[in-house]
Amino acid sequence: MDQPSIDALRAQAVAPRGHFINGEYHSGETGAQMEVLSPIDGQPLTQIADGSLADVDAAVRAARVAFEDGRWSRMAPAGRKNVLLKLADLIESRALELAVLGVRDNGTEINMALKAEAYSAAATFRYYAEAIDKHYGQVAPTSEDVLGLIHHAPVGVVGAIVPWNFPLMIGSWKIAPALAMGNSVVLKPSETASLSLLKIAELAAEAGVPDGVFNVVTGRGAVVGEALALSMDVDIMVFTGSGPTGRRLLEYSARSNLKRCYLELGGKSANIVFADAPDLAEAAKVSAAGIFRNSGQVCVAGSRLLVQQDIYEDFVAEITRHAEAFKVGDPLNLSSQIGAVHSLPELEANLRFVTKAEGEGAERRTGGDRILTETGGYYMAPTVMAGVKETDTLFQSEVFGPVLAVTPFTDEADAIRLANATVYGLAGGVWTANLGRAHRMIAGIRAGVVHVNTYGGADLTVPLGGVGQSGNGHDKSLHALEKYTDLKTAWIKL
Ligand code: NAD
Repeated sequence: MDQPSIDALRAQAVAPRGHFINGEYHSGETGAQMEVLSPIDGQPLTQIADGSLADVDAAVRAARVAFEDGRWSRMAPAGRKNVLLKLADLIESRALELAVLGVRDNGTEINMALKAEAYSAAATFRYYAEAIDKHYGQVAPTSEDVLGLIHHAPVGVVGAIVPWNFPLMIGSWKIAPALAMGNSVVLKPSETASLSLLKIAELAAEAGVPDGVFNVVTGRGAVVGEALALSMDVDIMVFTGSGPTGRRLLEYSARSNLKRCYLELGGKSANIVFADAPDLAEAAKVSAAGIFRNSGQVCVAGSRLLVQQDIYEDFVAEITRHAEAFKVGDPLNLSSQIGAVHSLPELEANLRFVTKAEGEGAERRTGGDRILTETGGYYMAPTVMAGVKETDTLFQSEVFGPVLAVTPFTDEADAIRLANATVYGLAGGVWTANLGRAHRMIAGIRAGVVHVNTYGGADLTVPLGGVGQSGNGHDKSLHALEKYTDLKTAWIKL
């Protein structure tokens, strides 16, 4: 089958979408819709259903019925595996269409969207599909007259809430292992990036995921998200998003059925460059990509650059040069390296962070401005702010935009102290040719992942999650399966 071109896909009208409940689209109890703006040009793209409490109830009910009657939860593991493998194939075959739809919705540049969204989602479904019939329970070492079995039972109905920055990738990190373990899912995507995940629900139905097993309810966080997290019939919540919303989920859990909440939250990750880095030119190039790609809208972005005093000025000049060289523009143009900032409020918040940093004494080396492009829309120049102090807002607060805070340090102890001087603990990076120092830094940095002589990047085989106020859950790898099962003991008298 001929694949349509990016331009042809871009020109297609996007039909208004409803919720996906029990295997089909529904306009929702109230019929209310909300407008979706494209960050590419700031123009209306389509409408999605503005969900209500009744819609959440309908989706949770469908998920519960499906779970209890066993149409998926008790399907033979090989059967679930085949369905999810088929879903992975379908996603791959529609990769360009999914990626372009996602880009029109959230502004990520198309090369990255293809790799990190569409193909990554296919790979995630394939990975967890393959895990289904390789995931065993245990036999306890008991005396001979009893048999102690430890089962991994599915938890039931999983509520998932995801953000707008990588909806397909992050959504799949939750949906795929949840379905693999036999659960039913109700997903609430971000109100500003729902389209590609609705498409995944359609493809899941086409692949053979039974009705009611995977449902999507769109709409506002404070309505749909809150109702889902307060539901007495949702067994666990898995969440990726900001700290304040994560905090609310814990409150909702306490006010409802004490459901477990797994939170993947924000970060202010320190990328630390020692004077003995093996290749300072490479360190500058990779560190620039590590903060500026996707307009800095990456949870693990190396948004604080700590540079050893002896190389500070030269390194800041080099990273500034890289920042200025990025081609920022229309995310559906294959030559753009950085696409749009997700929304006007996000862009304005980023610009306010720059003004505030200057007010607190930081020095703007480059960027800090909105870029006006032919397409209109929301674009921001990669921004380097030097001389940022530990007490500054820019050092302590997540921007989630293309703004780098640079701070000098003296030695290893100073670097570790500065790296750990925020409430976050998501990621970190160390550039050094000294193996002993690399290990001491890995041990010393309080974070879920520490990169050495690189920044960003990883694959499905390793977990991603944070410590401190960056959260408590891990996506990816076989460890993620633990979230979606309960340990259940069978004690059998022989
Ligand atoms: P957000 O918290 O505003 O929204 C995330 C989701 O929560 C959305 O679907 C939103 O509708 C929903 N929501 C909002 N209010 C809610 C409420 N009261 N109850 C229930 N749900 C509610 O975050 P965002 O702006 O979409 O995403 C950016 C944030 O996500 C950043 O902080 C970023 O660091 C974080 N993030 C973390 C990771 C990670 O793996 N740790 C990955 C990507 C993004």
